[in-house]
Amino acid sequence: MPHDAGAAVPCDVKDLTLAEVGKRRAESTFQAMPVLQTIRKRFIKTQPLAGVRIAACLQVTAESANLMITLRDGGASVVLCASNSLSTQDDVAATLARDYQIPVFAIKGESNEVYHSHIASALAHQPHITMDDGADLVNALHTRRQDLLSGVIGGTEETTTGVIRLRAMVRDGVLRYPIVAINDAQTKHLFGNRYGTGQSAIDGILRATNILMAGLTFVVCGYGWCGRGVATRARGMGAGVIVTEVDPIKALEALMDGCRVMPMGEAAAIGDVFVTVTGGKAVIGKEHFEKMRNGAILANAGHFNGEIDIEALGKLAGARHKTREFVEEFVLRDGRKLNLLGEGRPINLAAGEGHPASVMDLSFANQALSVEFMTKNHASLDKLVYGVPEELDKQVARMKLESMGVRIDRLTLDQERYLTSWSEGT
Ligand code: SAH
Repeated sequence: MPHDAGAAVPCDVKDLTLAEVGKRRAESTFQAMPVLQTIRKRFIKTQPLAGVRIAACLQVTAESANLMITLRDGGASVVLCASNSLSTQDDVAATLARDYQIPVFAIKGESNEVYHSHIASALAHQPHITMDDGADLVNALHTRRQDLLSGVIGGTEETTTGVIRLRAMVRDGVLRYPIVAINDAQTKHLFGNRYGTGQSAIDGILRATNILMAGLTFVVCGYGWCGRGVATRARGMGAGVIVTEVDPIKALEALMDGCRVMPMGEAAAIGDVFVTVTGGKAVIGKEHFEKMRNGAILANAGHFNGEIDIEALGKLAGARHKTREFVEEFVLRDGRKLNLLGEGRPINLAAGEGHPASVMDLSFANQALSVEFMTKNHASLDKLVYGVPEELDKQVARMKLESMGVRIDRLTLDQERYLTSWSEGT
């Protein structure tokens, strides 16, 4: 059933009458995104994206809505679909379609089938540029819609796991257009991944369960930028933190950051809360569930819903039922109960609202500037994954500091000379 009655543009959203609430939410969120606002003002004047068709597949939130509005105001024709079936804010989707004439295909809780039909609808826009969060548009274009590839000039990718997949495509020689890896920007992963996931994952867990963190044993699986953030915040709230890792350097770092480090097989028996942030699959599996304490809580803040082996958990359980909106209790045959949060999907987006706007400001400023960069420079780029140009990355940091009223020092000419020469010794 189409959900677009009353919208001037094609869309599939839950309920257009939610637009009023969504509009207020999107507008107030924009206040916390000063860097993106500054870019939008320049885009309105200079129209750098005039005539560019963009298909975006992102978490559909008030933050991404403001990115869409910025791109549209820069002259682009934009469509948006969801990169995650649980993270869509239905009111925001409604306002984009009704009040901003941006076609949106996203409904919170949509089935897998609808999810893929929404990706197909976004691609029907025949994009020049794709904007992904998990490489789903790239994947669909390279498999089901190769007919559209010749019209694509480039793309961007928001997240760690998407970038890993795109690099694998380059390695296999199958990527057909250049992509800018937004996640590689320092102003993305050092902030969105560390402080964004660090806070929003804990926020999602607390909203889902209302547990007291103090005194708990909190197991963080994976010590990348997201894992560091989660571990630091958990410790700050009084939990004892255990980190599990496969990389010796990251493990050593976790240890020196004050965490206990051990294999998952040992952590399984002592943890109260487990959070996966690895980007991998089945990091917590059958042999771990078998050892866990009664009442253990399982959450994922990494990629999709494969980091916790839910199928294996289901097989171990005699019964399963929802105890709260985002908590499913699995009753194992020996009577132990394990609690899975948010169906094992990224908990910050499933039970929370994703990262706060002030940190998405950085990621989405990188997105906007990278789309502009791609529009200008695509002819000289190869079919590779590129980082965000360093000067854009620095520009984003500078703009953010400025918006916060923070000033920093400048090197004197003499200092600059000293730091770039080799002839001046001790
Ligand atoms: N695509 C996968 C994993 C990515 S989730 C999935 O959805 O299952 C992580 C990404 O979500 C991050 O790169 C982050 O930038 C993005 N994100 C987090 N909070 C967001 C928000 N409020 N609005 C839009 N995107 C957000």
